[in-house]
Amino acid sequence: MPADTGAHTGATPSWPSDPEEFWEWHADAACRDMGEGLFYSPEGERGPRRVRRELAAKAVCAGCSVRELCAAYALATREPYGTWGGMSESERRDLVEVIDAGQAVSAYRLALRARICPDL
Ligand code: SF4
Repeated sequence: MPADTGAHTGATPSWPSDPEEFWEWHADAACRDMGEGLFYSPEGERGPRRVRRELAAKAVCAGCSVRELCAAYALATREPYGTWGGMSESERRDLVEVIDAGQAVSAYRLALRARICPDL
């Protein structure tokens, strides 16, 4: 489905309309060339093994220059899997239960705009 640019209604686009803009920040991701193994739980992973993997992923996130934007993205999209922005799946699940979905989307859009247009 084409992105809603708002052009037909004159309304403000509901989301970054350009996929490049949408993912622009990922070019600076500390995990960009690391593969998914550290950030996503393999089938059946539990207990101390899972805790160790998540801590290792969070250590990468701690040094990532786009951590806040990544976390905002994952909350806005309600990303159910993986470590994003230094937050595990369960930590995000707890947050998503108490934050307003519209506010999460607005927070991501504001963070994205601040990165793309820092002078605004
Ligand atoms: S915060 Fe973590 S998951 Fe997000 S881009 Fe950076 S390293 Fe990757």
